[in-house]
Amino acid sequence: MLKVNGINVFYGNVQALFDVSIEVGDNEIVSIIGANGAGKTTLMKTIMGINRPAKGDITYNGEIISNLKAHLVVGRGIVYIPEGREVFPQMSVLENLEMGAFCKKYSKAELDRHVEEVYELFPRLKERAKQLAGTLSGGEQQMLAIGRGMMSDPRLLMFDEPSLGLAPVIVDEMFDAIVKINRTRKTPVVIVEQNAFMAMSISDRTYVLEVGHIVGSGPSQELLNSPDIKKAYLGG
Ligand code: ATP
Repeated sequence: MLKVNGINVFYGNVQALFDVSIEVGDNEIVSIIGANGAGKTTLMKTIMGINRPAKGDITYNGEIISNLKAHLVVGRGIVYIPEGREVFPQMSVLENLEMGAFCKKYSKAELDRHVEEVYELFPRLKERAKQLAGTLSGGEQQMLAIGRGMMSDPRLLMFDEPSLGLAPVIVDEMFDAIVKINRTRKTPVVIVEQNAFMAMSISDRTYVLEVGHIVGSGPSQELLNSPDIKKAYLGG
C-alpha cells in the first residue's frame, strides 16, 4: 500500500504541491486527473524519489520511501512509465524490453518468460521484435514503454498520460491492457491523465488535482456522475 502524507513540493521558490495526500491500496486502480500544470507529473516524480517533499512523507508498505534515491524506489518494485514514452530509438523492440530487466539478475529462461508475458499482452510487439523502436508508431512505442516497465516484475505501476497523442482506438487498447495487467497480475496501478473520462472509466478511485491541491476524491463512478466534475473535466 502506497501512502502520500501531506506533502509540499517546491521548485526553487515556486510551490508545485500543497499538502497533497493520496493512498493506493492493494489491487486498486487509482487515477489522478487534472489540467496542464496541476502538478500531476510532480507528484509522480516525488513518489519516485526524483523530487523531495519539503513537508510530509511517502510510505510504501509501511516503510518511508521519500528519503530514498530513485534507484532504491525502483528497487522496491515501483515502476514509473513516463509521459512521452522515451523508448531507446536506436535499439530494437526486443533490446528495449531487455533493458527493462537491466537491474534484475534473471536467468535466460526468466528473461524469456518475461518477454513472452509482454508479447502476450501486446502481440504487435512480437511481430516487430527486431524493428528499431524509433520507427514504431506512437501507439506501438507506448506499448513498448509499458512492456519495458513490465519486464522488472513491478509491484506498483504508475502511468503518466498513457493516452497522450494517441488515436482513440489505440487509447482503448492501451487502457484495456492496463486493466488486464491489474486484474491478472494483481498489480496496483496509478494513472495520471488529462483524459479524465478514460481514466475514471477504468479506475476504482480518483483524485482531482488543481494547481497543486487535491480538491476532490472518491469512487470513480461517483465522480463520473458529479455535476462539478462533468462541468470541469468532461465537457459539460
Ligand atoms: P502536464 O499535464 O502539463 O504535464 P502536470 O499536471 O503534470 O502538467 P507538472 O509538470 O507537475 O504539472 O507541473 C506543476 C507546476 O510545477 C507547473 O506550474 C510547472 O510549471 C512547475 N514545474 C514543473 N517542473 C518544474 C521545474 N523543473 N522547475 C520549475 N517549475 C517546474
